Amino acid sequence: MDNIYSLATQGVQQLVPYQAGKPIEELQRELGLDTIVKLASNENPLGPSPLALQAIEETLPQLALYPDGNGFNLKQALAQKFAVDSSQITLGNGSNDILELVGRAFLAPGLEAVFSEHAFAVYPIVTQAAGATAVVTPARHYGHDLPAMLANVTGKTRVVFVANPNNPTGTLLSQASLEAFVKALPDSCICVLDEAYFEFVSHNGTVDSISWLMDCPNLIITRTFSKAYGLAGLRVGYAFSSPAVADILNRVRQPFNNNSLALVAAEAALADTAHLQLTLANNSQGMQQLTDGFKQLDLPWIPSSGNFVAVDLRRPGLPVYQALLHQGVIVRPVANYGLPDHLRISIGTAAENSFFLNALADCLS
Ligand SMILES: *Cc1c(COP(=O)(O)O)cnc(C)c1O
Repeated sequence: MDNIYSLATQGVQQLVPYQAGKPIEELQRELGLDTIVKLASNENPLGPSPLALQAIEETLPQLALYPDGNGFNLKQALAQKFAVDSSQITLGNGSNDILELVGRAFLAPGLEAVFSEHAFAVYPIVTQAAGATAVVTPARHYGHDLPAMLANVTGKTRVVFVANPNNPTGTLLSQASLEAFVKALPDSCICVLDEAYFEFVSHNGTVDSISWLMDCPNLIITRTFSKAYGLAGLRVGYAFSSPAVADILNRVRQPFNNNSLALVAAEAALADTAHLQLTLANNSQGMQQLTDGFKQLDLPWIPSSGNFVAVDLRRPGLPVYQALLHQGVIVRPVANYGLPDHLRISIGTAAENSFFLNALADCLS
């Protein structure tokens, strides 16, 4: 076979794989450093909830059994906490899995997906993998330009992706603007509202999107246990939607897409409000610490509502990223998001943040 790539579908032939944050072990292997601080993947610096760890331990002896393919207990816990019906919930192997299900269930060649410039990198991947066409709408002040996105919705548009807060910019949309947008979308278009950082939004900025589900049968709200709940390694995400949309997503889902440890850990983490509060407190202190540091270095940043912040180095970010690696700090270059002069820094512990700020000052001097 001359070119085996020609066997792949056209969308897949042109796919550029998702670039994840560099794993700590990889940098350790490459440079043999003792101390490595990873602020690259918006993980919880406090680790998982101790209650989640305990639930995992208690479930270990049952690993020979298949997990509950319907995630009954976790769905019940989510339904109770967020006042929705279990039939409105879809569980995913991370919320990425749900984005993938959306692509498989709703996108195909000839159809379009609308999303914003600087938006989460998985939207173009699922769009292209399905052979659909991405309609990327220029951002406004690094955030989503909702009127421009709405203007890009045509009869061919089957999915609109909105990240709120957005990753990697951290920009937040207001309740009023987002509600008007969601309700102005035609019925022929599925709206995916990606709320991976929902828990980090402070009270006055919180958007109550769940209340729109009643009027919006085409709305899908996705959330995750990977960020605020500290379970990124286990892969648990979920979606709220109408029961009909949940039924459609369920048709393309793998029968056991959540493993049994993930299911019990997520349920326990959801109940651990104390750990979540510690996480949020650490995040707001860390955000202050980092942005104070940027101010001292005279570097602008994009105000963020997430657990990360994109700093503008006013010079190409990649060489600074490389220099930081040599100091044992892993952050995230975001040139692939159309932000070549920025780096995205996840909020760490106070010690990690100051280790990073010292390294950054060093790299820039
Ligand atoms: C991290 C992230 C996700 C999904 O993460 P999972 O680990 O797959 O749940 C989804 N959307 C955005 C915007 C993210 O940053």
